Amino acid sequence: MSQNDNLFKKIMRGEIPSAKVYEDDDVYAFKDIAPAAPTHILIIPKAPLDSLNELTDNDAAVAGKLLVTAAKLAKELGFADTGYRCVINTGAQAGQTVPHLHLHLLAGRDLQWPPG
Ligand code: 5GP
Repeated sequence: MSQNDNLFKKIMRGEIPSAKVYEDDDVYAFKDIAPAAPTHILIIPKAPLDSLNELTDNDAAVAGKLLVTAAKLAKELGFADTGYRCVINTGAQAGQTVPHLHLHLLAGRDLQWPPG
């Protein structure tokens, strides 16, 4: 599957509907279709990055933007103080199923550690 055709690219282009939470020039955030917590948001870069493995120094700003967006949403949506978790699955053994870098933002329940 080419980068132009991956699922999250289609979501960003509006070809597949999504529940948008936030968007700016660098990132797009939307609700996960199969939420693993009361709040489960996916934050993705608009840049064509398959996974964390693709990142170089040139991507530092956009990589940081994923975390800054997570922190911003946590405050805006009211769970910054109660707690939340950011997860980036990378590669098959970690459970990455969509070949476009994405940060899971999870909140709204007691999250277990270590994750399964
Ligand atoms: P991964 O397993 O790659 O870390 O995460 C991919 C995530 O994408 C999963 O949590 C899955 O539920 C979500 N997902 C898969 N297909 C869709 C879709 O069509 N729409 C939305 N909103 N989320 C999706």
